[in-house]
Amino acid sequence: MADMPAPRLAASEFQQRLLDWFDRYGRHDLPWQSPRSAYRVWVSEIMLQQTQVATVIGYFERFMARFPTLESLAKAPQDEVLHLWTGLGYYARARNLHKAAQVAWEEHNGELPTESIDTLVALPGIGRSTAGAILAQSTGQRAAILDGNVKRSLTRLHALPGWPGKPDVERKLWALAEYYTPAERLADYTQAMMDFGATLCKRSKPDCLSCPFNDVCLAYAQGEPKRYPESKPKKALPTRQTIMLMLRDPEGRIWLEKRPPSGLWGGLWSLPQFEKHSELNDWLEDNAVNPKRGTTAPSFYHTFSHFRLEITPQPVSCDRLGGVRESGVWYDVNHPPELGLAAPVKALLSQLTPFSLNPTPGHA
Ligand code: SF4
Repeated sequence: MADMPAPRLAASEFQQRLLDWFDRYGRHDLPWQSPRSAYRVWVSEIMLQQTQVATVIGYFERFMARFPTLESLAKAPQDEVLHLWTGLGYYARARNLHKAAQVAWEEHNGELPTESIDTLVALPGIGRSTAGAILAQSTGQRAAILDGNVKRSLTRLHALPGWPGKPDVERKLWALAEYYTPAERLADYTQAMMDFGATLCKRSKPDCLSCPFNDVCLAYAQGEPKRYPESKPKKALPTRQTIMLMLRDPEGRIWLEKRPPSGLWGGLWSLPQFEKHSELNDWLEDNAVNPKRGTTAPSFYHTFSHFRLEITPQPVSCDRLGGVRESGVWYDVNHPPELGLAAPVKALLSQLTPFSLNPTPGHA
């Protein structure tokens, strides 16, 4: 492998040390480990992207209680899927999971196509590392993984410079990951690699003294393991502004509308949004009967990977809607319907009392 840095150990020695560590300290009772079907491993792997195990466990169990089979997921309405995902974030994961279940149901006889990495990555939302994890854990096929935890451990072990998101660094890491992957005990090895990075070679507190590789780890030898992996070169995040209309009817219910199926908060339910107060006024004029503005609530920020959104909630009460709004619901905070909500909207709805929803007359 031309791109591979010199391994720090022979593959068999690496596997032996890692699996010995895993047998003593690894996680053996995660809900997706028994039964370890391709479907359950897949759902867990998607949930675990960008999210810690402790957070995922509850979501996984609720998801499996509602969607115990690929068929049940494929046939579910998207709203129900997003509702069970509310709070996990990165909702494209849920939409892709749902879409991929439908593809597998229609085109692969209702099963996840676990013939190879290629058949899996052809499905929406499944990358090479996730495909490797599904194959290794559910079928025992020899397949490497390279999630964030594995990248961190391998980068440190080999003192690999450069941000792991850079294609040339990532190529080197894949070569190492492939090299160290064994031919047997694939499920344990895969879990061990994840656990090792998550619980021992941790981002901010690597426990090098307890590490089975501390005699060969180059980052440890250099005395500064946390220098690796290098961070992504930073760009200042731009800020966008939005006004969120909290329109209340006489029963205290709040008007929500469904976002377009793709893009920001795609398919989730949200408050109507406006860039300017004049647009909000036009909307009220067209749609709300007898609208009365409350005091504008304090702005807050929600950060996405590529920008910050400054959100200003604007409470307004009205007698009823007068225009033709087809894609909305009146959301009863006391008896909330099961809808997937954008995270800041969920937060706003759960904190209604701090904001004055009492209208101040004469501002509509
Ligand atoms: S010695 Fe420290 S930095 Fe190196 S692999 Fe072990 S825990 Fe990570």
